[in-house]
Amino acid sequence: MPVRSVLVTGGNRGIGLAIVERFVAQGHRVAALSRAGEAPEGALGIVCDVSEADQVDAAFKVAEAAHGPVDVLVANAGITKDTLILRMSEADWAAVLDVNLTGSFRVAKRAARSMIRGRFGRIIFTGSVVGLYGSAGQVNYSASKAALVGVARSLTRELGGRGVTANVVAPGFIETDMTAGLPDDLIAKYHASIPAGRLGQVGEVAAAVAFLASDEAGYISGAVIPVDGGLGMGH
Ligand code: NDP
Repeated sequence: MPVRSVLVTGGNRGIGLAIVERFVAQGHRVAALSRAGEAPEGALGIVCDVSEADQVDAAFKVAEAAHGPVDVLVANAGITKDTLILRMSEADWAAVLDVNLTGSFRVAKRAARSMIRGRFGRIIFTGSVVGLYGSAGQVNYSASKAALVGVARSLTRELGGRGVTANVVAPGFIETDMTAGLPDDLIAKYHASIPAGRLGQVGEVAAAVAFLASDEAGYISGAVIPVDGGLGMGH
């Protein structure tokens, strides 16, 4: 497999870190973007808040100078601000949409030009099972994740003829900081509804992302690949 220039947002912990580590282990040149900016050994850490368009452009320039134009983009940075709709403020809504959806748009747009020029690209969005399944208390988050499916499918129609694919990986409940704060009774409820009978591991999401980024996955585009132990089947 050729060595690729890979850029992962939210690459310093959780699912994004596992994705970065996997690409590094495969010998690719990997940039990990986050607000904190750290990266594991072998990857280039870059400070970037995806809710700031100027920071996205600056971070891409640093990654491109070090690794060449981005061939593989993983738009993974995401946040939650969970509460029931009656209590959900405009600010809760806007903050989640700005990072999860508009942040993904910003990095996809920034990466698309050189992918088109190079006639190769892999764009992978980290969606979520709740994008299509729904989730009480997550109107903002589930809307942001559902919208990524529309983004990936529209990009597929725009760029499919240029060797660029765009897909969504939709994790279920994965053990990370994001789920660490959930109350025990809620975790027990999730366990009961997940056919696999357990939460997922970050490496299981990274494996799906690595496959979609590979040359072998060149005919898969506009797809939503669940990594959820069967939780979202049929949605
Ligand atoms: P974590 O909370 O562990 O990590 C979130 C990552 O996003 C961090 O690297 C964080 O870095 C980065 N991030 C957050 N805000 C910004 C921002 N404004 N700009 C740049 N980077 C940002 O979450 P997970 O690893 O669990 O989640 C990763 C993705 O997977 C998210 O999109 C999430 O929605 C999705 N997901 C997670 C599931 C789970 O069960 N864990 C299930 C389904 C989907 P920093 O704080 O330094 O900026």
